[in-house]
Amino acid sequence: MLAELISENQPCVALTGAGVSTESGIPDFRSPSGIWAEYDPYEVASIDGFRRDPARVWEFYARRLDVLAGAQPNPAHHALAQLEERGMVRAVITQNVDGLHASAGSRDVIEVHGSIATASCTACGRREERERIRELLPLPRCVDCGTVLKPDVVMFGELLPSSAIDRASDLARNAALLLVVGSSLEVWPVAGLPEETLARGGCLAIVNREPTPYDLRAALVLHGSAGGILEQCVRTMTSSS
Ligand code: NAD
Repeated sequence: MLAELISENQPCVALTGAGVSTESGIPDFRSPSGIWAEYDPYEVASIDGFRRDPARVWEFYARRLDVLAGAQPNPAHHALAQLEERGMVRAVITQNVDGLHASAGSRDVIEVHGSIATASCTACGRREERERIRELLPLPRCVDCGTVLKPDVVMFGELLPSSAIDRASDLARNAALLLVVGSSLEVWPVAGLPEETLARGGCLAIVNREPTPYDLRAALVLHGSAGGILEQCVRTMTSSS
């Protein structure tokens, strides 16, 4: 059913969220076992929280860097990379900052919330990579000017990088099918992308464990594991080609 929908509705663009990475051992935010069950988002993931108490924010990011250090792409990431390879997915728009789509082989990935792989100095712009950042913990400072580094992720209260969100909007508007995988579709402005697809006559397919606000307007909703569902979808396409 999903394989057919993708084959018959091209171009298809994927929109992924934290749920695509939970099977890699990275917790999502809003599930009962998610990160927000343990941390207050406004304390550790907002720009005001960072300005108020950067040490507390870095304590949170140090834990996330540890989790990410051992994480590998799972069947959902691999399936999306294979769908791109087959010409069945044009690009992946992701809210994730973990870099696992690229690790799985996806080539056209739009990281609308940035990446945890680097951190930058807010004063002079010097950028450090993940390994160096880990050496500079617990409170990484710029080696040139001493200012505390900020993770290169979009925090609550910050604007999304305009080039990324503009490209994401353009892809969503021109998609015949927007394939949403593992997102609660509650975080704006990304939560508005399905609306852009629908407004131009495109359709939605949603693969998510829990219901989303767009379920009633989707052509297909599959509540279950992203890895299992997407792996099965690629298998179906392979056997029918
Ligand atoms: P979210 O936590 O709001 O929603 C995740 C959704 O995925 C939930 O509805 C949940 O039911 C579903 N889900 C969880 N595991 C699943 C699985 N195995 N298969 C199918 N569905 C599954 O996440 P969101 O919508 O991405 O929220 C956006 C915010 O979360 C962004 O700011 C993003 O940067 C951030 N985030 C990223 C990561 C990461 O990079 N891996 C991790 C946590 C949060």
